[in-house]
Amino acid sequence: MRQSIPFELSKDKSFFDSLGDWIGDVLYDELPEKGLEMRDEQIFMAYQIESALREKSVLFAEAGVGTGKTIAYLLPSIAYARYTGKPALIACADETLIDQLVKEGGDIYKLQQLLDLKIDVRLAKSRDQYLCLKRYEEAEQFLDGDYLDEIAVSIPEGVYGSGKLEPYGQRSDYPNISDQEWSQVNYNAIQQCQVCDIRNRCGQTLHRQNYRESTDLIICSQDFYMEHIATKESRERESQTPLLPEVSMVVFDEGHLLEFAAQKAMTIKIQDYTIVKVLDRLMVDGVREKTLNLMEELQDGHELFFDQLRDDVIDSTEERKRIKKSDMLLKIGKRVISIVEQLFEEFVFESEMYIIPEYEIRMAEEFLEQYEEAMRIFIGNGDAVDWLEDTDGEETLVIMPHLITEVLSKKVFSKKIPFIFSSATLSIDKNFSYIAYSLGIKKFESFTVASPFDYEEVMGINIHKAAQEDKTAVVKQLLEDPQQTLILFKSKQSMDTFKKQLGDVAETIAFEGDRELSSIIRDFQNKKMQTICSYHLWEGLDLPEEALTRVIIFDLPFPPHDPLFDAKRSFADDPFDEVELPYMLLRIQQGMGRLIRTSNDHGTIELLLNEEEQQSIDAIKPVFAVEPTLIEE
Ligand code: SF4
Repeated sequence: MRQSIPFELSKDKSFFDSLGDWIGDVLYDELPEKGLEMRDEQIFMAYQIESALREKSVLFAEAGVGTGKTIAYLLPSIAYARYTGKPALIACADETLIDQLVKEGGDIYKLQQLLDLKIDVRLAKSRDQYLCLKRYEEAEQFLDGDYLDEIAVSIPEGVYGSGKLEPYGQRSDYPNISDQEWSQVNYNAIQQCQVCDIRNRCGQTLHRQNYRESTDLIICSQDFYMEHIATKESRERESQTPLLPEVSMVVFDEGHLLEFAAQKAMTIKIQDYTIVKVLDRLMVDGVREKTLNLMEELQDGHELFFDQLRDDVIDSTEERKRIKKSDMLLKIGKRVISIVEQLFEEFVFESEMYIIPEYEIRMAEEFLEQYEEAMRIFIGNGDAVDWLEDTDGEETLVIMPHLITEVLSKKVFSKKIPFIFSSATLSIDKNFSYIAYSLGIKKFESFTVASPFDYEEVMGINIHKAAQEDKTAVVKQLLEDPQQTLILFKSKQSMDTFKKQLGDVAETIAFEGDRELSSIIRDFQNKKMQTICSYHLWEGLDLPEEALTRVIIFDLPFPPHDPLFDAKRSFADDPFDEVELPYMLLRIQQGMGRLIRTSNDHGTIELLLNEEEQQSIDAIKPVFAVEPTLIEE
């Protein structure tokens, strides 16, 4: 049911003028009277968002850590959703942040309590966060484990009999089930929901129906939002509803991460073993020999393709590895496509014989259609970018058919609705052109408000001028002063070299990759160790007060030399100024942003620069919150 706007509308004022008045009343008077501390920067941000709603513009809202960005965007979003009759979408950086937003004591909870406002907020999680009833039923038949009993009791009666059908089966409903167990029963990309015969009883479908009816807010991850964008047209073509409903506006919380989410969603992935698993499921007794032979041929051809792919990969230390496509690889690719086509013809006969369950055949068909399309793009001579990488421990061929800037500008930012990017790091010294360029945004509004923290008081920055071969010795010396320390590296290779040079000292330090990263962070926060080394934690790490008092930046985080960044470089007039430098400067700001998270934090940044890196000192200085001290080593 449509909810009423949380303030009175009058004939002599527009909705937006009244919204401005309401924001003022709530942020200047009502919330502070009820004990919530408001900051001028936060109120300024809320007014800027009100203005972006009025103009339906793209707004880059850069507000330093501690500004209170969430309340600043929630108030105008809720009012705007009720005014337009469509929910506002909040797209968070990841799934865990979705839960943080709605937890008891969180900002939405506070607004509900303090303003006596009933906010209709619903979560739209990524598809792998839901139980797949089909896989669960299969696991029940073939696998053992207490986790299956735990899931069984959570399934509402209405699923297998009469009774109410309520949304069920979210990952967060099962805190005691391990990730490994969950991976046996959750939705995965092979499932083809559109041909599933139990779709109406599936928890994912019920959750989707539920969040579509939200009147105020839908909260999802940026990954899921981009999956919605990537699949919207094809779903509509197949008469399926898009993953998300029409919304009145979108807020990208931690908006600097949208580019990565878009890259993930706009790529097609082929994994080494997936096709083998899909076809194995069809090899049941009674299948015609011709079909069986073709399936085996396809499995062999696919294996051969991956063998050749490994030979054709250009050896490098980068995560995304370049592929030099040999004639042999292209030949095998063509052969594989031809087998898939023959197999489709055989599936027509198989469907009429009902030996293979219909769902299995449809699932394989859908999968093979995507596989064939990916292969065609890969062997074609188009503009697609491709590489080999490791995804969750499996060798994966990744194909990006189009530049994401084209897709985003056409399918997202051409819509006449407001888009708000909220983050502490969107610009380089108040220049937003890099993020706008990376996302294909041509017209935008922007502002920057500083963090309320007194950086001069609580933070020091030391720049150590040191030869590359002396950097490890400098770190060793710094570590003699025992403090909770994060050491950031530009790449895994850089971290591994440092680890080797450390010798025995390395045993007392935790390195990313030694074990699961969140468990390392937990131990670090509980002070079971003093130093943690990472090449990914430039962002997302939030360790307040004494849990982190020193960040050492081992090298300048310029982008890698991999196919993805090479494609970006190739489109720039000046690759260094337009791609390399802005990427590095944003990353440096994010890395430094790990240190001061609350008003009780303090600490130092130690930046190590070799001779070549020292040439960038003047470019880096504007992004420092305090004047650095130069130290000659
Ligand atoms: S609709 Fe999709 S997720 Fe649900 S049971 Fe069917 S295949 Fe699994």
